[in-house]
Amino acid sequence: MDNIINSKGITILGSTGTIGVNTLDVMSLHPDAYHVVALTANLNVDKMLAQCRRWKPQYAVMVDEQAAEKLSLALKDDDIEVLSGVDSLEFVSQLEQVDYVMAAIVGAAGLLPNLAAAKAGKRVLLANKESLVMSGKLFMDALHENNATLLPIDSEHNAIFQCLPVSGQQGVTKILLTASGGPFRTRDINTLHDITPEQAVAHPNWVMGQKISVDSATMMNKGLEVIEACWLFDITPDKIQVVIHPQSTIHSMVSYNDGSVLAQLGNPDMRTPIAYGLAWPERLNSGVEQLDLFEVARLDFEKPDFQRFPCLRLAYEAYKSGGNATIALNAANEIAVEAFLRKKLRFTDIPVLIEAVLEQSITGTSEQIDEILIQDSVSRQQAELWLNKRSASHAGA
Ligand code: NAD
Ligand code: MG
Repeated sequence: MDNIINSKGITILGSTGTIGVNTLDVMSLHPDAYHVVALTANLNVDKMLAQCRRWKPQYAVMVDEQAAEKLSLALKDDDIEVLSGVDSLEFVSQLEQVDYVMAAIVGAAGLLPNLAAAKAGKRVLLANKESLVMSGKLFMDALHENNATLLPIDSEHNAIFQCLPVSGQQGVTKILLTASGGPFRTRDINTLHDITPEQAVAHPNWVMGQKISVDSATMMNKGLEVIEACWLFDITPDKIQVVIHPQSTIHSMVSYNDGSVLAQLGNPDMRTPIAYGLAWPERLNSGVEQLDLFEVARLDFEKPDFQRFPCLRLAYEAYKSGGNATIALNAANEIAVEAFLRKKLRFTDIPVLIEAVLEQSITGTSEQIDEILIQDSVSRQQAELWLNKRSASHAGA
């Protein structure tokens, strides 16, 4: 019992995903330091059931109602409360017995529970970058106003966090945000339209969920990360240099006015930033192998190519246009990636769809949650309309 009193209670939003599974993996190395209060997922009952049996959380949330019924039936003899619906995600993010919330739902669906965790003053371990792209000011204000703590889990932002001064930004001249360049960095640019979902999700260095893998292939992931860095570190995009670094050994760097450049290096394994988020300001064994520099042997750097990666350009442009444009960027990208994964959209049409939505003169910045959700939904409708028109014109051709 003593152990439970001293150990930190954790809610994992998106526990069945890549980040969720890696979080449980790190926690399993430190059974006295952390315990699970709540696990959440969308549809995957089998995986959730296995996690419930292993971790015995107080609550298990399946957003999908039918999935929740199935889980509830399977757990009828266990002392685990099964909940469903979006409200339940917010509920388990605010519980008094929860110290840390791992925000690892993919996409806009993470926004409301992340915000709930911030408002409840939790330590938020933020993997879900999309919510920050949608609601940067609102989310950062909610954190500050409620004395919540934010630990970036995205590997680049975690690296930057480690390389920045302990307080303030004294002497910082630039953030060097590294990017692997994804699987198509060197592919003949004239063949990009033939890329299949299977090819796009096969990332050379990282094992990740499908959506972020496609985002890495288009480099929209880096575009979202530039915006993420602006909010997290209160910095403007002109002070962020994207650096293609194919080995993914340096996870990002910070340049200082005395000529120093601080970098964080490590094997490409999300358990390192997750362990840092859990243990900060201390350190914790993450289970990740030590970096072997002789095996890495070399570190290469290239400038990003906006012609090959138009999504990166679109992200910079959206940030310049304001908060509503970044909501539209994210919404249109989520629709485009889903359509691409269903083979309803070509790889090279992902940026075409996003640009078409961004061209609908989106200005201003919504600072209220209702306005943010309306902009998100309008942009999704515009993206769906574009897709429908496109398939109608192809059917008629
Ligand atoms: P994933 O697809 O593997 O997992 C997503 C999780 O979210 C699952 O548990 C799923 O059940 C849940 N989910 C999906 N849709 C939902 C919905 N509508 N409502 C509630 N829950 C829903 O994704 P991932 O790779 O683990 O990525 C999660 C987040 O972390 C993303 O925002 C991603 O950008 C970010 N991230 C991931 C990595 C990585 O290495 N995987 C690295 C950096 C940042
Ligand atoms: Mg990243």
